[in-house]
Amino acid sequence: MANGTDYYAVLGVSSNATADEVKKQYRRLAKQYHPDANQNDPKAAERFKEISEAYNVIGDAEKRKQYDDMRRLGAFGGVGGFSQGGARSSSRPGGFGGTGPGQAGAGTFTDFDVGGIGGLGDLFSSMFGGGAARGRNKGPERGQTVEQTVEVPFRVAATGGKVPVEIEVNEECAMCHGSGAAPGAQLKPCGECGGRGVISFGQGSFAVNRPCPVCMGRGSVPSERCPACRGTGEARVRRKVLITVPAGAESGHKVRLRGQGGKGASGGQAGDLVITFDVLPDRFYKRDGLDLIATVPINVAQATLGSRISVRTLDGKKVALRIPAGTSAGKRFKISGQGVEKDGKKGDMLVEVTITVPDTLNEAQEKAMRDFAEASGLKY
Ligand SMILES: [Zn+2]
Ligand SMILES: [Zn+2]
Repeated sequence: MANGTDYYAVLGVSSNATADEVKKQYRRLAKQYHPDANQNDPKAAERFKEISEAYNVIGDAEKRKQYDDMRRLGAFGGVGGFSQGGARSSSRPGGFGGTGPGQAGAGTFTDFDVGGIGGLGDLFSSMFGGGAARGRNKGPERGQTVEQTVEVPFRVAATGGKVPVEIEVNEECAMCHGSGAAPGAQLKPCGECGGRGVISFGQGSFAVNRPCPVCMGRGSVPSERCPACRGTGEARVRRKVLITVPAGAESGHKVRLRGQGGKGASGGQAGDLVITFDVLPDRFYKRDGLDLIATVPINVAQATLGSRISVRTLDGKKVALRIPAGTSAGKRFKISGQGVEKDGKKGDMLVEVTITVPDTLNEAQEKAMRDFAEASGLKY
């Protein structure tokens, strides 16, 4: 997480850049670091994420104003002494180094950047509606609850089945187990908060306690940050989950899979995975509750004289259906018990006919049609 970084510096724009300048620069960087153009380059991917995150705030007039206000109020730079906080590393966060635009710092804020420790994450999450702030005495923490919409093929939703889903969750870093410290690193009390893990912003009745951004509420800082998570203690993890779709599932239907979200930290419970189904349309079938509606085209002669057609049911079987003489377009024929089965109830299949008119006729067909018209006393 790069929440502690200066979003203006990340984008390489000055803090009084116009919205247009910000957008242009964002597009330029996004193109440069886009994962499609930088395959197998995790640094570019990380940089791309940082850019997106920065733009998410700076590119939004409302959030940018809040962000600027917080900078002005000294929530970041004005707390002072960050550069002596002990946690500041000489190395910039990954993907940041070199001559990238990230070097275009913005005053005191650059000093605040504690090299990817991302201390403002908690501040930001409270500001922009993220998760709860993490306190010092970090007890067991519940894993992240992940919500995701999943596209389900029509037939899978009708008969039930499984769909694979890939989820991304923030989990405790496996290398440092959430401590943010490199293996073998020594922990020193945090100079910024005096080891309390909390600092106060504002004054008097406006004062608010927030987890210390330097030690991220831990109260101590490592002599060396964990290289895997760059000190955040968290890792972004991708995981495949096989979702069971109950028969008769409909769009908007939600299932909660307990413990299938992010893993808990410090022995905490895993979060849940909440899946919302989005049932895709089918070429052949539509649903009406438990009934299946299948539209079948027949030609003029079949509609007029009657015919036998065959219709495929959901499970792939062919069922013969008699179309009586004199059938009009839109008429429905019921095939009992071949609809969707749900909770012990079973719907029907309704075959709705449409009538196709030939756009070309051979000689014999044309003669037959003319004879028909004449016999019916029609003028044409
Ligand atoms: Zn780590
Ligand atoms: Zn601290």
